[in-house]
Amino acid sequence: MTARVLVVDDIAANVKLLEAKLAAEYFDVISAYNGPDGIRLANEHKPDIILLDVMMPGMDGFEVCRRLKSAKETAHIPVVMVTALDQPSDRVQGLDAGADDFLTKPVNDISLFARVKSLVRLKMMTDELRMREATGQSLGIVDASEVLNPMADIGGRVLLVEDRETTLRKTAEGLAGGGYTVDTTGDPVDALMKARENDFDLVILSLSLQNTDGMRLCSQLKSLESTRHTPILALVEEGDTKRLVRALEIGINDYLIRPIDKNELLARTKTQIKRKRYSDKLRQNLQMSLEAAITDQLTGLYNRRYMTRHLATQIASAHETKKPLSFLIMDIDFFKAVNDTYGHDVGDEILRGFASRLKSNVRGIDLACRYGGEEFVVIMPETDVAFAYAVAERLRQSVADLPFPVNHPNSPLTVTVSIGITSIEKPTDTSDTVLKRADQALYRAKRDGRNRVVAEAA
Ligand code: GH3
Ligand code: MG
Ligand code: MG
Repeated sequence: MTARVLVVDDIAANVKLLEAKLAAEYFDVISAYNGPDGIRLANEHKPDIILLDVMMPGMDGFEVCRRLKSAKETAHIPVVMVTALDQPSDRVQGLDAGADDFLTKPVNDISLFARVKSLVRLKMMTDELRMREATGQSLGIVDASEVLNPMADIGGRVLLVEDRETTLRKTAEGLAGGGYTVDTTGDPVDALMKARENDFDLVILSLSLQNTDGMRLCSQLKSLESTRHTPILALVEEGDTKRLVRALEIGINDYLIRPIDKNELLARTKTQIKRKRYSDKLRQNLQMSLEAAITDQLTGLYNRRYMTRHLATQIASAHETKKPLSFLIMDIDFFKAVNDTYGHDVGDEILRGFASRLKSNVRGIDLACRYGGEEFVVIMPETDVAFAYAVAERLRQSVADLPFPVNHPNSPLTVTVSIGITSIEKPTDTSDTVLKRADQALYRAKRDGRNRVVAEAA
């Protein structure tokens, strides 16, 4: 992971130490020795994360954090407060100022990299999402009101796996106080079952369960399809570095050292849940853009590009299995006149109405698509020409018999459709020959008076 880290600390030795550690892990490091310089560099260099000392002469870390978090240009950059003393009150103040996490001096390598990596991943995800949503909005695919607000407070569902009564109760209370819904269990088998059946936003898990190995549960959660996207926050014994390192290798997302500090618990819970939300949203966006790429915007049917690919696949499969395949092409009659008389919007309403009538008249395995303006296509696998003719005839009738409701005083409007059919028969048939024959059949239907179905033999 390459990322740019801004270190802000008034003591040169501290800066040098962090610089050396981060550079060794290939982070790109920039440094400032006082608050105002830190803010300036944050604006100039747009770092991916800021490590901010609390105690600095002049402007202290809390004030720097407040300013960074209240400026639009820097609000999205994660800030980790580096506190000299292990002062719980510093954590509360840091959280109030908008800090995302804490580190305690002297900074140990494991905690430094765990926090930096976890927050940098979160930021990369938010950056990516912001970019895609900007693209989506400019294409009109994403509604601006759907854009996630990275600073918004979010609740979430947490599964807490812990078999020590007192810790269990205190941690659950802490989380509930932070607005989270908590489910608890002390049994790893039960934990796995719960995690599979519910969509938790976070699993908080003890690595030192008394009767079993918490590590095993971690690796099961990370390998199951239904749970591998759920972040894991591990509870670790002070000094149990060996187990912690292994857990980080297995893929836990962050950890807390016992005894658990409530503010730390809430800060890390929030970071992990935010990240989960963003990655869910990204996957969902990807799904949406894939759908958008193959869907006709007006009718919701498949578009021409998708149909062309699909037809080629279907023809190959029909040749291979020696099963019939039929192909319908239809064109609304005198559609230009509808537009000319009632306007383009009414024309669009008819196209949408036609598409939904088309959908309800074909089977699940048939593929209906909008081929062009007022032309539609249906690919019917495992269907011979006689059956396709019956389907086409039923469709033609359902269009002609039931006028389309539109937003116009003359509503509903009667519309008819002409349909050409062909089916593949010869092994030499290709998408081109199939389309050409169907087109010829359609042409004959039009020529013979429209509102009719014509089948063209090969
Ligand atoms: P025919 O019976 O021979 O098919 O006559 P027609 O008027 O339907 O055929 P023509 O190809 O001359 O006209 C098609 C019309 O479809 C012209 C075009 O304005 C209209 N059209 C194409 N796409 C859309 C669309 O997305 N919305 C609307 N409202 N009209 C469209
Ligand atoms: Mg036409
Ligand atoms: Mg037409």
